[in-house]
Amino acid sequence: MFAFVLGAAVGSFLNVCIYRWPVDLSINRPRRSFCPSCKHPIPWHHNLPLISWLALGGRCANCRAKISFRYFAVELVTALLFLAIWERFPWQVAIAYWIFVSFLIIGTFIDFEHFIIPDRITIGGTIAGVACSVVVPALMQTNSRVAAGIRAVLAAALGYVILWIVLEAGKIAFGRKRIEFDAPTTFTWTKRDDDADFVVGTEESLWSEYFAREKDQLLLHCDEVRIDDREYGEVRLTFRYDRVIADGHLKFLAAIGAFLGWRAVLFSLFAGSLLGSVIGLVTLLVGKPVWSAKLPFGPYLAFGALAWMFFGETVLRWYGTLLRP
Ligand SMILES: [Zn+2]
Repeated sequence: MFAFVLGAAVGSFLNVCIYRWPVDLSINRPRRSFCPSCKHPIPWHHNLPLISWLALGGRCANCRAKISFRYFAVELVTALLFLAIWERFPWQVAIAYWIFVSFLIIGTFIDFEHFIIPDRITIGGTIAGVACSVVVPALMQTNSRVAAGIRAVLAAALGYVILWIVLEAGKIAFGRKRIEFDAPTTFTWTKRDDDADFVVGTEESLWSEYFAREKDQLLLHCDEVRIDDREYGEVRLTFRYDRVIADGHLKFLAAIGAFLGWRAVLFSLFAGSLLGSVIGLVTLLVGKPVWSAKLPFGPYLAFGALAWMFFGETVLRWYGTLLRP
């Protein structure tokens, strides 16, 4: 019960980060939470995790504007994960995992909405992961703090490099058509129903036209990216028909490695890609347009990381018995 309530309270704080970090608002100023619609400060008795959203029917008490279900979902998911971690792991490991899933949840939900993960989550998560591994060496299956620190750093490096290799390999295998521009050219990408308008320079096209086959990828090297009015520096985006991979995902996988170790890196990448393919296939089978399956890669990686935390050892043991007849 304690872990659940703590998780709901932390989830409430994570909501603030998810809302404010991508638009560069400080977490402390304004100190009080406010309604995203009317900006009215929310009194504490209307800001209780889980309970308030339910009691007010998901609406602002002041202006009755709808408050996104996301707020409730983040609090509930955080609460359930905190509880599950507390029940399952020794307390030192559990506290480290609480920190980890907090990063995971912020990264996933920002990625859902903005298709990008800010550095303070990916790089911040990697640093936090190495620090936690030094403090709790059990995270890296060792008793030595030094060994744990080294393993965490190596696992983070593996996470970054392996996804980079996957992307580069994809480029070599499928890179058939290459378009270069003499001068920097702007492109815009605007969601429309189940598809999107894609405009490069003066050429207009539908997004889905670029993905004739399942394996088709579109790579964009951008000097500057603006997503939902937020500026980002140089970014490389890899689009597949069912997922979008940005540079941030390399660092996201690095953070997963720093907390969970090198085996988790491989597992998360594998499980995340598998889930992506399954979801892509299911949406094709039920005849929904290709676009509806398009998700950023972050949530898939987060799914893989959580699956590893709770079931990784079981899966490995099961896999071991398959190999040994
Ligand atoms: Zn309001």
